[in-house]
Amino acid sequence: MTFTAQILTLYPEMFPGPLGTSLAGRALSEGKWICDPINPRDFTTDKHRSVDDTPAGGGAGMVLRADIMAAAVDQAIENHPKVPILAMTPRGKPLTQARVREIAAGPGVTIICGRFEGFDERLFDARPIEEVSIGDYVLSGGEMGALVLLDACIRLLPGVMGASSSGDDESFENVILEYPQYTRPQIWEGRIIPEVLRSGDHAKIAAWRKQRAEEDTRLRRPDLWERHRDSPDQSPSGAQEKDKDKE
Ligand code: SAM
Repeated sequence: MTFTAQILTLYPEMFPGPLGTSLAGRALSEGKWICDPINPRDFTTDKHRSVDDTPAGGGAGMVLRADIMAAAVDQAIENHPKVPILAMTPRGKPLTQARVREIAAGPGVTIICGRFEGFDERLFDARPIEEVSIGDYVLSGGEMGALVLLDACIRLLPGVMGASSSGDDESFENVILEYPQYTRPQIWEGRIIPEVLRSGDHAKIAAWRKQRAEEDTRLRRPDLWERHRDSPDQSPSGAQEKDKDKE
């Protein structure tokens, strides 16, 4: 089954946008995924095609109406009943690589993009919608978040990345960050590629990479490091178990 992305957006022309180029673009033209924007304005009933109204209780901006958004969501559910429905909102659960992997392993995803001040909260009570945030900052609309989520999913679809780069070693796959990367020239502005990476000794290289991945995670992302240490099955080599034994 082809992975289908339905995107509920007031700006359907933003899709596939950057996902029409490079890896995702090639995958799209090869039919490895389908991009299907749906405009909530098509579900309006008034002559102005209004999707929003003023906030209850007063205040600045406009709010996306629950009735209009729900009608668009219902159409998306009818099209693809088995795919998860995500809404982009800063109030949502932060998106993780683990959730991205789950979504990419399924038949597709429906993503609802907010605008203005966001959604009438009753939409989330009335429909099975997962609220997702892409970070602790505010975008002007959910479309960029949808593009981020889709890019992260599409590269994991079968046959999209080369077999040699399955993504298994990358940052967040085993909770921690990836080790640092280098390429030619060997010496650049007086800086030389670490000797071990030039040694050809694969065991030593693997050990160095593991050590740097762990060290960098501990220094740069103590939050991830804590999680890594607290979850026994995260390291195939059992390294964290050894670390814990030292305590
Ligand atoms: N009033 C909202 C708040 O303070 O939480 C922000 C609304 S924002 C200007 C408009 C839309 O952009 C949101 O409804 C959401 O779809 C999207 N958006 C903004 N920041 C986001 C984030 N960090 N993650 C996901 N979506 C975001």
